[in-house]
Amino acid sequence: MNNSYSYHDLCNELQLMKLPNPYLSYEVIGYSVMGKEIMALRLGQGKRKIHYNAAIHANEWITAVLLIKFINDCVRCLEEEDYIWQGVHIHQLLQEITIWFVPLLNPDGVELVLDGIGAEHEFKQQLLAWNNNSVDFTGWKANIHGVDLNDQFPAYWEEERVRRQQSKPGPMNYSGIAPLSEPEARAIANFTLKHAFDLVLSLHTQGEEIYWNYRGFEPEKAEGLADKLASVSGYCAVYLTDSDAGYKDWFIQQFRRPGFTIEAGYGINPLPIEQLDQIYEKVSKILLLGLTC
Ligand SMILES: [Zn+2]
Repeated sequence: MNNSYSYHDLCNELQLMKLPNPYLSYEVIGYSVMGKEIMALRLGQGKRKIHYNAAIHANEWITAVLLIKFINDCVRCLEEEDYIWQGVHIHQLLQEITIWFVPLLNPDGVELVLDGIGAEHEFKQQLLAWNNNSVDFTGWKANIHGVDLNDQFPAYWEEERVRRQQSKPGPMNYSGIAPLSEPEARAIANFTLKHAFDLVLSLHTQGEEIYWNYRGFEPEKAEGLADKLASVSGYCAVYLTDSDAGYKDWFIQQFRRPGFTIEAGYGINPLPIEQLDQIYEKVSKILLLGLTC
């Protein structure tokens, strides 16, 4: 287990983002199974709407830290009005776009991976049973109901459920009893429908890959955009088949607009916090370019 970064550390970072700030505002878009806030943060006031999210998979929690770091860097750029970040004039850009971030989509699952299971955990007995009676939850991707949130979206959900062959709750790959049965998935789906974003990007780990297509529903420009994101970062744009019910799949199907899954970093999940700067170096370029697409 990774002990150098705790759920408490992550919460502290999120709490700081609630402090009054002329550029950054926040709202609660829903609550996790255990009642934790799912927070969205907003920058800019332009017409074009972009959305980035992270940590839909519990043991990919480093993506939450990456996104928080990116938000903080954007705010720092705004504080210096003429600052150009890698060729992008953030202040000007944020007159044209509004970006909504949801850095921590699966707070209960992330807490479980980072802190393990305490004696007091509300779901202790169930979680242990679903985890083969192991107290090592580092392989846990699901929410606290043992549902894989990125298999929850109404985009050929049934086909994904059959493909996964996972009929009960567990660390990963269980699609749940129905699409959007879980509050975290419902929260992000409703939030997305409400704002009808022009582009979305969902952060996962790992593999240094960019997924951009979905069953031919993606717009024509999606492939070119993926190539641009790949060339700026060194990541690989990958054409994906035999995968359904993910957030970006559903977004592409619903809106026929560009949606991307970014598989950040390289290694075995959960990637250690020590890799943060190294991963950020490449991912921040993708996140920055995504704002101009
Ligand atoms: Zn993932």
